Amino acid sequence: MKEPDFYCEGCGTKVDKWAIDCPKCGRVFDSIKCPQCEFTGKANQFTNGCPVCGFQSKEQKLRMKQEAKARQQQEPQPQPKGKKGGDFKFSEIFYKSSIAVLTIVIIVLAAVLIGR
Ligand SMILES: [Zn+2]
Ligand SMILES: [Zn+2]
Repeated sequence: MKEPDFYCEGCGTKVDKWAIDCPKCGRVFDSIKCPQCEFTGKANQFTNGCPVCGFQSKEQKLRMKQEAKARQQQEPQPQPKGKKGGDFKFSEIFYKSSIAVLTIVIIVLAAVLIGR
């Protein structure tokens, strides 16, 4: 069965059936049909591939790669080590001091009970 051609509603340019937007006029297409499971949905449902079967077009894979790359470049990991280390130290001190307090309370209680 021959797939029908897809044309931009805005300018009439022949576009890839998987195109999310028109490469010529930039018009965003309302619905996309998955060529694998034939699920039809809004373009934003397909941003990570088909929501039903997970199928991705070459363009989508490329786009996701580029987006992931751009994200990595944008966020040069602001070293979470220092902050996390501080949090850990704080909780460690808190943990140790609460154990010390508990130990003292037990010792005092024991002393009181024995003293009687
Ligand atoms: Zn167009
Ligand atoms: Zn699908």
